[in-house]
Amino acid sequence: KPLSAGWNFDNSYAALPDMLYTKMSPKSVRAPKLVVLNERLAESLGLNAEALRSDDAADVFAGNRIPEGAEPLAQAYAGHQFGHFNRLGDGRALLIGEQITPSGERFDIQLKGSGRTPYSRGGDGRAALGPMLREYIISEAMHALGIPTTRSLAVVTTGEPIQREKELPGAILTRVAASHIRVGTFQYAAAWGGAEELRKLTEYTLLRHFPEAAANGEVGGEGKDSARGSSLLLLNEVIRRQAKLIAQWQHVGFIHGVMNTDNMALSGETIDYGPCAFMDVYDPATVFSSIDSNGRYAYGNQPQIALWNLSRFAETLLPLLDDEEERAISIAEQALGEFGVQYHEHWLRGMRAKLGISNAEEQDEELVQDLLVLMQKHRADYTNTFRALAEDEPEKTSLYEIEEFQRWQERWQARLDRQVASREEARQMMRSSNPTVIPRNHRVEEALEAAAERGDYSVMERLLAVLAQPYAHTAEQAPYCTLPDPSGLPYRTFC
Ligand code: AMP
Ligand code: MG
Ligand code: MG
Repeated sequence: KPLSAGWNFDNSYAALPDMLYTKMSPKSVRAPKLVVLNERLAESLGLNAEALRSDDAADVFAGNRIPEGAEPLAQAYAGHQFGHFNRLGDGRALLIGEQITPSGERFDIQLKGSGRTPYSRGGDGRAALGPMLREYIISEAMHALGIPTTRSLAVVTTGEPIQREKELPGAILTRVAASHIRVGTFQYAAAWGGAEELRKLTEYTLLRHFPEAAANGEVGGEGKDSARGSSLLLLNEVIRRQAKLIAQWQHVGFIHGVMNTDNMALSGETIDYGPCAFMDVYDPATVFSSIDSNGRYAYGNQPQIALWNLSRFAETLLPLLDDEEERAISIAEQALGEFGVQYHEHWLRGMRAKLGISNAEEQDEELVQDLLVLMQKHRADYTNTFRALAEDEPEKTSLYEIEEFQRWQERWQARLDRQVASREEARQMMRSSNPTVIPRNHRVEEALEAAAERGDYSVMERLLAVLAQPYAHTAEQAPYCTLPDPSGLPYRTFC
């Protein structure tokens, strides 16, 4: 008797108003082959990793077989892409179902690259192996860094080439998410649905992602007061999670690259790893994405773009927030005003931790800003500079030879002397706040090249092992902390 994989599906999204999705099965692919499996994630979902290595399971990950209890669908959504509003939807992905874990948590299981849907527009519905492995590596690195994110369960190759600038091997990523409800999902419901659909989506999202907030509020009733309560609770909670999430991105130098409203998940997880990359030299203007020619989604713009996206989200809720538009707008504006306050609090708290500072002084922000300015001026590596401060390893960065920096260091040392926490406590705090390893662009590219061009997954497996412990400081990690040889060419990422 074959091992049971442990799928345990429930399909609550499929019970929402049907304008929000299209039920359909994935298209079969020719020759599915499992190339990466996240065993630890599988076990935490209540799945049997050994069973997931069977051909049967590869068929599931490829969309050739629908596991029992699953009810696949393509989700409809809209989105502002680089500021322009479009009708979108899962053009190359399907929600297979919601896996209920042994502890009762609910996760979307989504196949990305699973073929055309009614929302594909001109696209082929498929994905290339390189970008799917890239999402796997970076999403798992983000998770290990302690940053909320969708996860990656498996990648299969399809045995079918796909046509891009050149022919590439096709692949499907199995993505695991708290949900795939986006700002764009609400934009879709607001633009093409009625009040009833919007209200149902609001209550669903609130109950699914913010059950504690919902329990304290007046939710699930019939009347206008209930809609008002639910929509304001949801708005406040979504803002709260985004404020924290974006601060966490900034702390590690993560650049999402394509913060369109359809790529912002209301759960507060980082979603949609396309042209994302980690900043090396500190510079707020850093952009890696080949399609972001105006730098709309540059590192330093991420907080204000998040607020812009949240403003689009708030607009969708206006009819629920109050009958009178002006009152609704003023409620929304008040809620949105909290974003900047909360973001700044999270950001400053995290930056203090990166410097080992455990209490608050008025001049701390200046101390942080002055360091950032020095890093920018002297083109210092963001990650390595903080790690050098934590480990007291001056040889690791050229900054230490600079007099301005030495003066900054004296101020910082004096600041540490003024706090109650010991030097050892400060060091521990810095070690747990400053990663040693991030997915450095040249290391990621090297892993993808070995896998996609030579079928050699060992480079990627070694990288994944190191990225799984980003705050450790071991000999295995040292080679992953070095910067690429300066090639003269700026690093570019593609969707
Ligand atoms: P993204 O840039 O990944 O956020 O995608 C934006 C929109 O384009 C989404 O609706 C995707 O589903 C859709 N899309 C991206 N690539 C493809 C493709 N190869 N085929 C069909 N739709 C796609
Ligand atoms: Mg439908
Ligand atoms: Mg997207």
